[in-house]
Formats: sequence, structure tokens, C-alpha cells
Amino acid sequence: MSNFNQETVLSVHHWTDRLFSFKTTRNPAFRFQNGQFTMMGVEVKGRPLVRAYSLVSANYEEELEFFSIKVADGPLTSRLQHLKEGDPILVSRKATGTLVLDNLSAGRNLYLLGTGTGLAPFLSIIKDPETYERFERVVIVHGCRWAAELAYSDLIANVMPNDELVGESVREKLTYYPTVTREPFRHNGRISLLMTNGKLFEDVGLPPVSADSDRFMLCGSPNMLADIRAILKDKDFVEGNHGAPGHYVIEKAFVES
Ligand SMILES: Cc1cc2nc3c(=O)[nH]c(=O)nc-3n(C[C@H](O)[C@H](O)[C@H](O)COP(=O)(O)OP(=O)(O)OC[C@H]3O[C@@H](n4cnc5c(N)ncnc54)[C@H](O)[C@@H]3O)c2cc1C
Repeated sequence: MSNFNQETVLSVHHWTDRLFSFKTTRNPAFRFQNGQFTMMGVEVKGRPLVRAYSLVSANYEEELEFFSIKVADGPLTSRLQHLKEGDPILVSRKATGTLVLDNLSAGRNLYLLGTGTGLAPFLSIIKDPETYERFERVVIVHGCRWAAELAYSDLIANVMPNDELVGESVREKLTYYPTVTREPFRHNGRISLLMTNGKLFEDVGLPPVSADSDRFMLCGSPNMLADIRAILKDKDFVEGNHGAPGHYVIEKAFVES
């Protein structure tokens, strides 16, 4: 287990029967950049059973937080969904990932587009003061099937604007845009459709997308990523990566088996 720190679960919150979040202790030596993911899981028969997980917590916070799916027959999450306060958890000593500010070239507006648990990395990004130093407007879009799945909506809409560190920037620059596909809600439809029909940009009061001014971070299902990547490529956006900042960056929220 030398690649992992053993942490302790501090609290668990169930959003729905498919989604939950939990907080753990944080080894002070564990460093990461906001937007990154790490390997996290439990010990089973003396061996680590771990999966990639985005960090919801910002890199300056004392605790770690994760936002998780519950897959009924998933090797890890069938166990993880029963976590309770005091349980041990394994967290890799390293973090990695492409959804970091340094992988984007300078721009005016930052769009953070996440579906399902793909919201997770963007929670650490919107807690980061540097996000607001680099961008004039930040739009966080969360797409779900049902309104009950819009986890963290209270944090984003009501808690963050009063945050000691970033509250003022959040009030001035951050727009939260939740959208639901399977029931009536204040915003409806897939993110890709809201981009192609221009409704997203109209609703948030920004002009149609342009690679000159807009930067995107995407985290969602393989289909969501393919659809939005095609829209951006069509508008001459160039994908960024480590060492080669671009107009947009992508991370899978999960891998289809
Ligand atoms: C870079 C990266 C970051 C990730 N970050 C997170 C995260 O922050 N939170 C999280 O819950 N998962 C995340 N995942 C997915 C995670 O690694 C596991 O797949 C998930 O925990 C399920 O594990 P499992 O062993 O129970 O089932 P697995 O065998 O890993 O998955 C079984 C199947 O369940 C479906 N599935 C898995 N994860 C999800 C998901 N998140 N949403 C919808 N369907 C899913 C897929 O169809 C998958 O093939 C991430 C994956 C990657 C590649």
C-alpha cells in the first residue's frame, strides 16, 4: 500500500440513491492542483481496490472531498456506498489530470461543462482564487437527468457567494447554470443542444462562442465529450494539454466498460 495514504472518513452525504459524497482526512504531504484526480478506494483482502476520482475539495482545504456514483454491481462503488464515519479509505499519494488552468491559454470567459459526477473537478476550480484572476466571467454548467441529481447546487448558488476567500469574485464573476433533461426545470436540455441552439449563451448574457475569447473545460460521459468536442472543433478551438495550452481541455468522468 506504499503508493497510498490511509485516510479516515469524516462524513458522508447521500444526495440520491445513485449519488453520494464524502469527506476524509488529508495527509498534509498530499499535494494537488485544482481540477485534478487521484486514485481512491478501499483495501479488499489485503489489496487496494481503487478507481480514478476527481477532487471536489480545493488544494488549500484541510479535508479531502469526493463526489461518487453508486454502481449496483461496480467492484468499488458497491462497497463505497456503505461508507460511514470512521472507516478507512486509501488515497493515492499522487494526483494528475488535464483539467487545470495552466492547460488553457489566456481568455476572457471560462466555461466549465460537467454532466453527472463530471461536476466534481469544477468544484475545486471554482474555489480557486486564480480562476477569477485569469477570467472575467466563469460559467459552471451542470447537466443531469433529474433535478434531484443537481448535487452541490446549494453550495454553488448560496454558500460560495459568501465564502471568505472567493465570495466577492464569485458574486462578481460566477454564473451557475444547472440543466435537466428528463423533467421540467428552469433550464432544460443537453448541454450540446444548448450550445448549438445558442440558448446557453443567451441565458448567461454572453456572445456566441469564439476561440478568441472563450475557454472550455469538459468532464462527462464519453458521448457528451464527443458531442461537445465536435462543436468546438467546428469553431476552430484547439485542445490543450500539458505543456501545450489550448482553447479547451477534456477529462472523462468515467470509462464505459
Ligand atoms: C479521470 C477519471 C475521473 C473520475 N472521477 C470520478 C468521480 O469524481 N466520481 C465518480 O463517481 N466516478 C469517477 N470516475 C469513475 C470511477 O473511476 C469508477 O468508474 C466509479 O467509481 C465506479 O467504480 P466501480 O468499481 O464501482 O465500477 P466500474 O467497473 O469502474 O464501472 C462500471 C460502469 O459504471 C459506469 N460508471 C462508472 N463511473 C460512473 C460515473 N461516475 N457516472 C456514471 N456512470 C459511471 C460505467 O458504465 C462503467 O463502465 C472517474 C473516472 C476517470 C477515468
